[in-house]
Amino acid sequence: MSATVSVRGLRRTYAGRSGDVTALDGIDLEFPAGSFTALIGASGCGKSTLLRLLGDLDEPTSGVVEVDGGSPSAARRTGRVGVAFQDPSLLPWRSVRRNVSLTLEAAGRKVDRSAIDDLISLVGLDGFADARPRQLSGGMRQRVAIARALALDPDLLLLDEPFGALDELLRVSMNVELQRIWTRRRSTTVIVTHSISEAVFLADRVVVMGARPGRVCDVVEVPFARPRDVELLRAPEFHAFCDDVSRRLAAAVAGVAA
Ligand code: ADP
Ligand code: MG
Repeated sequence: MSATVSVRGLRRTYAGRSGDVTALDGIDLEFPAGSFTALIGASGCGKSTLLRLLGDLDEPTSGVVEVDGGSPSAARRTGRVGVAFQDPSLLPWRSVRRNVSLTLEAAGRKVDRSAIDDLISLVGLDGFADARPRQLSGGMRQRVAIARALALDPDLLLLDEPFGALDELLRVSMNVELQRIWTRRRSTTVIVTHSISEAVFLADRVVVMGARPGRVCDVVEVPFARPRDVELLRAPEFHAFCDDVSRRLAAAVAGVAA
């Protein structure tokens, strides 16, 4: 079952040396069950903070996050939340396969070895199931973290710049795979990305954020039908739409209305 996530009046401040930093303020967002949302915005506008708050990896200063009407921590404890963040934090002494199965073991769920191997293959790491993290490149480690998040078959999937370290071709093929998985499972998904075309290709809507304080500046619904294939990336209407999102992002960075 996909999760419905509701964020109301969310604020997160951090104590800094020269006073408090308001990482997020006044965030109100609904993430309907089965939706796919992309968060974009200049570095430092609170994207990762928002994702951490959704995933119970941080606590709000004020405001609420609800996952199906309950707390994010209840959702996480029951293994309903899959996260892959920028720093993949793999256990160095475990093989790729045993890193991918880690979240299942932690949630006390059965580990189906062939399902794990399918995921490893899905993220393009065939032949690396027995490798240790130190034998992998940064982009490969990120993909292990994505497979680990997917292994839970989560109701809420949170991805923070998951494909940032990949070259363009690999990024596109991972985008296609991710869309395929999402179409099948419909996990409510939130992805942070610096790539506007990735955001538009994957998401139902793009949330444009601005900084100081981190806030929502614009929410853009993506009109393209699914399934979306790589041909869309070459379509003039796709480029025109990305240009519009890019203009809105520039306006958010400048702090003016688009
Ligand atoms: P983004 O992911 O959009 O680049 P972040 O959510 O990482 O932004 O950070 C938002 C703001 O909060 C930044 O100004 C950052 O310096 C600050 N911040 C984030 N995490 C911490 C922390 N643990 N301690 C202090 N300040 C933090
Ligand atoms: Mg970040």
